[in-house]
Amino acid sequence: MINELIKIMPDIQFHPGERFAWSPEKRIITYTPDQIEADGRWALLHETGHAMLNHKSYKSDLELLKMEMAAWEKAKELALTLGLSISEEHIQQCLDSYRDWLHRRSTCPSCGTNSIQNDHSNTYSCFNCHARWQVSPSRFCRAYRTRKEKEEFVLI
Ligand SMILES: [Zn+2]
Ligand SMILES: [Zn+2]
Repeated sequence: MINELIKIMPDIQFHPGERFAWSPEKRIITYTPDQIEADGRWALLHETGHAMLNHKSYKSDLELLKMEMAAWEKAKELALTLGLSISEEHIQQCLDSYRDWLHRRSTCPSCGTNSIQNDHSNTYSCFNCHARWQVSPSRFCRAYRTRKEKEEFVLI
Protein backbone atom coordinates (compact mmCIF):
# COMPACT_ATOMS: atom_id res chain seq x y z
CA MET A 1 0.00 0.00 0.00
CA ILE A 2 2.86 2.40 0.77
CA ASN A 3 4.15 1.84 -2.77
CA GLU A 4 0.73 2.71 -4.20
CA LEU A 5 0.67 5.91 -2.15
CA ILE A 6 4.18 6.87 -3.25
CA LYS A 7 3.01 6.58 -6.86
CA ILE A 8 0.07 8.88 -6.16
CA MET A 9 2.08 11.37 -4.06
CA PRO A 10 5.66 11.21 -5.41
CA ASP A 11 6.69 14.47 -3.73
CA ILE A 12 5.85 13.21 -0.24
CA GLN A 13 8.14 11.02 1.82
CA PHE A 14 6.80 8.12 3.86
CA HIS A 15 8.88 7.20 6.91
CA PRO A 16 8.30 4.51 9.50
CA GLY A 17 7.91 6.08 12.94
CA GLU A 18 6.27 6.03 16.34
CA ARG A 19 2.86 7.18 15.21
CA PHE A 20 0.82 8.26 12.22
CA ALA A 21 1.40 11.90 11.46
CA TRP A 22 1.67 14.48 8.69
CA SER A 23 4.47 17.00 8.97
CA PRO A 24 3.72 19.95 6.67
CA GLU A 25 7.15 21.53 7.24
CA LYS A 26 9.11 18.47 6.15
CA ARG A 27 6.41 17.06 3.84
CA ILE A 28 6.80 13.69 5.52
CA ILE A 29 4.15 11.21 6.54
CA THR A 30 5.21 8.90 9.34
CA TYR A 31 3.51 5.59 9.96
CA THR A 32 3.86 2.66 12.33
CA PRO A 33 4.62 -0.41 10.18
CA ASP A 34 3.18 -2.95 12.64
CA GLN A 35 -0.28 -1.33 12.50
CA ILE A 36 -0.48 -0.96 8.76
CA GLU A 37 -2.51 -4.14 8.31
CA ALA A 38 -5.12 -3.15 10.88
CA ASP A 39 -6.75 0.25 11.55
CA GLY A 40 -3.39 1.76 10.68
CA ARG A 41 -4.13 1.67 6.98
CA TRP A 42 -7.06 4.03 7.57
CA ALA A 43 -4.81 6.33 9.58
CA LEU A 44 -2.29 6.27 6.75
CA LEU A 45 -4.99 7.20 4.23
CA HIS A 46 -6.10 9.98 6.57
CA GLU A 47 -2.61 11.45 6.88
CA THR A 48 -2.20 11.20 3.11
CA GLY A 49 -5.49 13.11 2.86
CA HIS A 50 -3.93 15.98 4.85
CA ALA A 51 -0.92 15.89 2.52
CA MET A 52 -3.04 15.89 -0.67
CA LEU A 53 -5.02 18.86 0.62
CA ASN A 54 -1.72 20.57 1.49
CA HIS A 55 -2.86 21.26 5.05
CA LYS A 56 -0.35 23.50 6.75
CA SER A 57 -1.75 25.61 9.53
CA TYR A 58 -5.06 26.79 10.91
CA LYS A 59 -6.32 29.80 12.75
CA SER A 60 -8.46 28.07 15.33
CA ASP A 61 -9.42 24.77 16.89
CA LEU A 62 -12.63 24.84 14.86
CA GLU A 63 -10.65 25.19 11.64
CA LEU A 64 -8.55 22.21 12.71
CA LEU A 65 -11.72 20.16 13.17
CA LYS A 66 -12.84 21.18 9.66
CA MET A 67 -9.48 20.10 8.27
CA GLU A 68 -9.83 16.76 10.04
CA MET A 69 -13.21 16.28 8.36
CA ALA A 70 -11.77 17.26 4.97
CA ALA A 71 -8.82 14.86 5.40
CA TRP A 72 -11.24 11.99 6.04
CA GLU A 73 -13.28 12.91 2.94
CA LYS A 74 -10.09 12.85 0.89
CA ALA A 75 -9.07 9.58 2.54
CA LYS A 76 -12.38 8.01 1.46
CA GLU A 77 -11.80 9.07 -2.17
CA LEU A 78 -8.27 7.73 -2.00
CA ALA A 79 -9.49 4.44 -0.53
CA LEU A 80 -11.91 4.04 -3.46
CA THR A 81 -9.14 4.49 -6.02
CA LEU A 82 -7.12 1.81 -4.18
CA GLY A 83 -10.10 -0.55 -3.99
CA LEU A 84 -10.38 -0.18 -0.21
CA SER A 85 -13.03 1.17 2.08
CA ILE A 86 -12.80 2.92 5.43
CA SER A 87 -15.24 2.12 8.20
CA GLU A 88 -17.63 5.05 8.57
CA GLU A 89 -17.90 4.18 12.26
CA HIS A 90 -14.15 4.54 12.66
CA ILE A 91 -14.24 7.97 11.00
CA GLN A 92 -17.06 9.15 13.23
CA GLN A 93 -15.23 7.92 16.35
CA CYS A 94 -12.13 9.86 15.35
CA LEU A 95 -14.12 13.01 14.59
CA ASP A 96 -16.10 12.65 17.83
CA SER A 97 -12.84 12.56 19.76
CA TYR A 98 -11.94 15.88 18.12
CA ARG A 99 -15.37 17.33 18.89
CA ASP A 100 -14.96 16.31 22.55
CA TRP A 101 -11.49 17.83 22.62
CA LEU A 102 -12.82 21.08 21.13
CA HIS A 103 -15.62 21.11 23.69
CA ARG A 104 -13.17 20.68 26.59
CA ARG A 105 -10.95 23.49 25.35
CA SER A 106 -13.83 25.86 24.68
CA THR A 107 -15.55 25.37 28.05
CA CYS A 108 -14.83 28.24 30.44
CA PRO A 109 -12.75 26.94 33.38
CA SER A 110 -14.40 29.52 35.65
CA CYS A 111 -18.10 29.17 34.96
CA GLY A 112 -18.50 26.28 32.51
CA THR A 113 -20.04 28.32 29.68
CA ASN A 114 -19.12 27.18 26.17
CA SER A 115 -17.17 30.01 24.60
CA ILE A 116 -15.44 31.03 21.42
CA GLN A 117 -11.79 31.14 20.52
CA ASN A 118 -10.08 34.43 19.77
CA ASP A 119 -8.77 34.58 16.21
CA HIS A 120 -5.13 33.79 15.49
CA SER A 121 -4.34 32.79 19.06
CA ASN A 122 -4.64 29.96 21.50
CA THR A 123 -6.87 31.99 23.76
CA TYR A 124 -10.56 31.79 24.47
CA SER A 125 -12.81 34.42 26.01
CA CYS A 126 -15.96 33.74 28.01
CA PHE A 127 -18.85 35.98 27.06
CA ASN A 128 -20.59 35.12 30.33
CA CYS A 129 -17.97 35.84 33.02
CA HIS A 130 -15.33 37.49 30.78
CA ALA A 131 -12.58 35.08 31.85
CA ARG A 132 -9.83 34.52 29.30
CA TRP A 133 -7.78 31.38 29.11
CA GLN A 134 -4.99 29.98 27.07
CA VAL A 135 -4.88 26.45 25.68
CA SER A 136 -1.88 24.50 24.47
CA PRO A 137 -1.07 24.90 20.78
CA SER A 138 -2.25 22.02 18.67
CA ARG A 139 -0.81 20.25 15.67
CA PHE A 140 -1.79 17.67 13.12
CA CYS A 141 -0.58 14.80 15.19
CA ARG A 142 -3.19 12.14 15.42
CA ALA A 143 -6.45 11.06 13.91
CA TYR A 144 -7.84 10.28 17.31
CA ARG A 145 -7.66 12.32 20.50
CA THR A 146 -7.79 10.47 23.77
CA ARG A 147 -9.62 11.74 26.81
CA LYS A 148 -6.48 11.21 28.84
CA GLU A 149 -4.73 13.96 26.94
CA LYS A 150 -4.02 16.63 29.50
CA GLU A 151 -5.24 20.07 28.53
CA GLU A 152 -3.38 22.95 30.04
CA PHE A 153 -5.71 25.76 30.95
CA VAL A 154 -4.05 28.95 32.01
CA LEU A 155 -6.34 31.76 33.03
CA ILE A 156 -5.00 35.05 31.75
ZN1 LIG B 1 -17.01 32.00 32.16
ZN1 LIG C 1 -5.79 14.44 10.96
